[in-house]
Amino acid sequence: MNVSDSERIAGCLEELGFVRTEKREKANTVIVTTCGVRQSAEDRAYGIIPKIKKANSSVKIVLTGCLAGRADVQKRLKDSVDIWLPINELAGLGKILRKRLEIAAPLARLGARNDRKGSLGGYLKINPKYESPISAFVPIGNGCNNYCAYCVVPYARGREVYRPAEDILAEVKGLIKKGYKEVILIAQNVNSYRSSVITQKTTGSLRRRSAPPQDDSGAVNFADLLKMVNDIPGDFWIRFATSHPKDMSEELIKTIAECEKACHQIHLPAQAGDNEMLRRMNRKYTREHYLKLLKKIRLALPDVSISTDVIVGFPGETRKQFKNTEKLFRQARFDQAYISQYSPRPGTAAAKLKNNVAKTEKKRREEALMKILRRTALANNKKYIGKNMEVLLEGTRKGIFFGKTKTGKNVRIKDVSNHPVGQFVMVKIKSAEDFGLEAVLENKTAPEPKRGGRRIFNRR
Ligand code: SAM
Ligand code: SF4
Repeated sequence: MNVSDSERIAGCLEELGFVRTEKREKANTVIVTTCGVRQSAEDRAYGIIPKIKKANSSVKIVLTGCLAGRADVQKRLKDSVDIWLPINELAGLGKILRKRLEIAAPLARLGARNDRKGSLGGYLKINPKYESPISAFVPIGNGCNNYCAYCVVPYARGREVYRPAEDILAEVKGLIKKGYKEVILIAQNVNSYRSSVITQKTTGSLRRRSAPPQDDSGAVNFADLLKMVNDIPGDFWIRFATSHPKDMSEELIKTIAECEKACHQIHLPAQAGDNEMLRRMNRKYTREHYLKLLKKIRLALPDVSISTDVIVGFPGETRKQFKNTEKLFRQARFDQAYISQYSPRPGTAAAKLKNNVAKTEKKRREEALMKILRRTALANNKKYIGKNMEVLLEGTRKGIFFGKTKTGKNVRIKDVSNHPVGQFVMVKIKSAEDFGLEAVLENKTAPEPKRGGRRIFNRR
C-alpha cells in the first residue's frame, strides 16, 4: 500500500514540475511515506529522516504515511520534518506543496476538486508514476473497519473507502494499453470491496459483454469487480491482496477459478492458529474456519499457492497456544509467510495489555514457524519440477532472467536472451528451493490458451 501511495505522490510531484534525483542528498525536497504497522518500520523512519536533514540542512522534508498524525512522532522529529501530511489528507498534497514550497506551477490534474480534508477520493484520482513498466499496483480502496486488536491501520488510515469500479477499470485499461502485463488490485481487505452500480455510459461495451452479477444491495462486490477486470481485453494477469479469512466468499473462490486472467495465488493472513488468541486479536474466525476455507480454495484451484501473515508473541500468548499456530502451519502447508514479532502500537486495544512475551521467546517462535514454512514451501515447490510453466519475465541480473509464475513463484531462468523483460514465456522447471524455482526456456510450442486469446510469446 505504501509503494502505491508513493507512486501517486511521485505522480503529483511530477505534475508540479519536480524531477527525481539519483541520490537523496541531492534533493531539495524529500517525501517520506512512513509505515507504523510495526515498531521496526517506525524505527527506520527515526534513523533515516534526521540523517537526510543532517546531510543537507536546506532540504524540505515532508512526512506522510501512518506516522504523520501521531503527536509523539511529531515531537521526536520536529527538528527534521518541515511538513506533516497525515495519510488521509493526501488529497491536498498538491495544494500544500504549492503553498509551503512556494511553487508557481498550476495545479493541473491534481484532483484539487476533491481535496477535502479526510477524503482519499481526489488523491486516488492523481495519475501515479508507476515504479515498474510491467506490473502495477492498483488501489481499489483504503482504510479498514476491522479493528484487529494489534493493528494501527484503522487509526492511521481511517475507515474503509472504496474507489468506484469505473475509476479502477479506467486505470487498468490505461495500463493494458501501455503494455502492462500484470495488475495487482490492493486494499486492506479486498473482500469487503463495494462500489455503486456501474453505469452503462461509462463502461460502454464492457458492460454489454459481461453484465456483472449484483449482490443483494445492488452494489458491485469484489467478485464482480474481478470479472469486470478480467473482461478487459489484453494479455495480462490479475493479482490481488489482501483477503480477510472472515470475508472470503465461495462466490469469490468460484470467480477466481472462472477468470482466466486471475492468478492462483492468495494471501490469506491467519495471524494465529489458536482460537483463544484469534478471539483476543478480534479476528472473528476460528482455526477450523480458516482450514475449511483453505480446503475449499484448494478444491477449486488445485495449483493455488497460499501465503499468510502471522504474529508471534501477542500479549499473553502461552507456549501451548503457540503450539496451535505451529500445528496450523503444518496443516496449512503454506508457500510463503510473513512472520512478525508482536510490537505494541499506540492507540490500539492491545497496547493496553502487558507486552509479556520476552523478545528471546518471540524470536524462538518466529524461527520455529520459519522452519516449518521452509519445509512446506520446499515440498510444494518440488511438485513443480519437470513441469512446463508460463512465466512473466520481470528482470535480468548477470545473465539470469527472473520472473514469476501465475501462482506467484519466483523463477530464475537461464538462456532467455531473445525474450526481453515484460514478456510471457514458457519454461521447464528444473529444480526447486524453498522460495524459488530454477528453469530453462521451453522451446516446445505452447498450448493454445483456453479462452481470452492469450498468446504465449506476445510482443509489446
Ligand atoms: N489487512 C491485513 C489482514 O487483515 O491481515 C493485514 C494488514 S497489516 C498492515 C500487515 C501485517 O502486519 C498484519 O497481517 C500483521 O501480521 C502485521 N502486524 C500488524 N500489526 C502488528 C503489530 N502490532 N505487531 C506485529 N505485527 C503486526
Ligand atoms: Fe489491520 Fe485487521 Fe484491518 Fe488487516 S483487517 S488492516 S490487520 S485491522
